[in-house]
Order: sequence, then C-alpha cells, then structure tokens
Amino acid sequence: MAATAAAAIASPAVHAQTAGPRVIVVGGGFGGAACARALRKADPRLTVTLIERNRTYTASPMSNSVIAGLRGLTEQQFGYDALERSGIDFFVGFPLKIDPQRREVAFIAGSADALTVRYDRLVLSPGIDFRWGAIQGYDPVAFFKEGKPVAGKKELTFNWSGASWYFSTQENLDAFKSNPTYYAPQFGGWCAYGTAAGHKSPTQAETWSIVDNKLYFNYNMAVQKLWNKNQKGLIEQANKNWPAVKKE
Ligand SMILES: Cc1cc2nc3c(=O)[nH]c(=O)nc-3n(C[C@H](O)[C@H](O)[C@H](O)COP(=O)(O)OP(=O)(O)OC[C@H]3O[C@@H](n4cnc5c(N)ncnc54)[C@H](O)[C@@H]3O)c2cc1C
Repeated sequence: MAATAAAAIASPAVHAQTAGPRVIVVGGGFGGAACARALRKADPRLTVTLIERNRTYTASPMSNSVIAGLRGLTEQQFGYDALERSGIDFFVGFPLKIDPQRREVAFIAGSADALTVRYDRLVLSPGIDFRWGAIQGYDPVAFFKEGKPVAGKKELTFNWSGASWYFSTQENLDAFKSNPTYYAPQFGGWCAYGTAAGHKSPTQAETWSIVDNKLYFNYNMAVQKLWNKNQKGLIEQANKNWPAVKKE
C-alpha cells in the first residue's frame, strides 16, 4: 500500500504543486470544490488533494428545468479539469478509512489498490443523502430468485435486526420472514471489500454478488472489480474482521 501511495504522490499532477502542508478535501460538490479552490488560491504553497467519488458533478440548481424538458442533463454536469489546471490533485475515489491520530486517509482511486496519504488538515464535504431502508429499499430475496436488484414496495415491509426491509412480493416477504439470515446480505449490507479492509462503507445494489448462497455488496463497480479478483480470500478476511467492524 505504501509503495502504491508513493507512486501516486510522485505523479506529475502532484509535482506541479510545491511541497507545502497538505490539505485533503473529500467531496467535490459546491462546498468541497469551492473550498479546495479557495485554499489553493489563498496559499499556493499548499498541496491540495480533492477526493470525489464521481468524475462528473451533477448540479442541483436549475435541475427543475431538466425535469420540465427545458434543459439537457449535460448542461447540469461539470468536470474537474479546471480545478486540476489550478494545481489541485484530483482523484476519483472515496475514503476507506480516516485515521485522525495518524492524520492519514486510506482511499480507493479508480480501480487501483488503496492509497494511503498523510494530511495536515482534512476537510469533509460529502453533502447529504437519503436514508433508505435496509439495502436502499431493494428486495433481498429477489437477488436470489430473480438474479437482479428489484425495488421493494413500501406496503411490503418487515422489521428485522433494527432495519426496515422492503419486498416486491408478499411471497418474498414470507420467505424472508421464515429465514432472514439466509436472505439478508453479509456484513449488515456494508461493503464486503471494505469489511475485509477493516471498516464500514455504504454500498450500491448493482454491485451484488452471491457466493456460496450468501449475498454480498460492494461500494461501487470499481470496488467490485477488486472484489472479483479475490472473493474467497476477501470473504475469509471480512469474516475475521466483522465482529470488530460491526461495533464501529
Ligand atoms: C433540486 C435542488 C435545487 C437546488 N437549487 C439551489 C439553488 O438554486 N441555489 C443554491 O444555492 N442551492 C441550491 N440547492 C442546494 C445546493 O445544491 C446544495 O446546497 C449544495 O449542493 C450543497 O453542496 P455540498 O458540497 O455540501 O454537497 P453536494 O453538492 O451534494 O456535494 C457533495 C459531493 O461529495 C461527494 N461525496 C459524497 N460522499 C463521498 C465519499 N464518501 N467519497 C467521495 N466523495 C463523496 C458527492 O459525490 C458530491 O459530489 C438545490 C438543491 C436541490 C436538491
């Protein structure tokens, strides 16, 4: 991991900056991107690294015009080229772990292995999100029966293990009720790859996989590629880590 991080830090984009104090900004929305740019402008000696999970930002203001068909979606979308040109290191990725004592962020960048980077100051600007039911309201049984994510219905819910589970059919709800531990995803629905790395990360439904009759999710498709390379080893490691990670 250290070697990969060193390689990343020696990238041309990073060389463009002076080796001053490093600020890491997580989240490249209005808040994070503006903060990164303002910091770099205020003190060009700063090494500013922006970690954002998407390559393109889709802005909310004016989005009602898109819904009304008056504006194209691409008019709402912005890249990070200008930020990069202003000397900010930009990574498409997401943090796996933040260690405030060591002042380190371990993060996934693209489909590469995790990088660990030290910071002097950290800015977290991830915005807000909805709180869905368990596995974002998808029907857990449908992954087994239909082999794809199927949205659950709000009139077909069942409370189990501290969460509301949504189902697409009464039959699936009944199947879950009779054997919830069989159908519920492993590691509380958190990212299996993240659990193997020792932390909780949220997941996306389309990353699902069933291995030996057990349902797993990953953070995103890039992480799923890493997961696919070594499912057996990662499952073993995640099972070892889960009792401790669960308490986080
Ligand atoms: C429909 C609508 C219309 C609006 N209209 C206006 C308006 O006209 N004027 C106005 O001033 N405001 C408007 N707003 C509000 C404005 O969009 C928000 O205040 C603003 O987007 C908040 O900025 P933010 O940076 O905090 O969060 P966001 O813009 O949500 O950005 C957060 C960023 O963090 C990234 N991120 C999240 N988690 C991670 C992670 N784990 N790792 C890496 N990256 C991560 C996300 O991908 C995202 O790019 C509107 C909002 C909505 C929903």
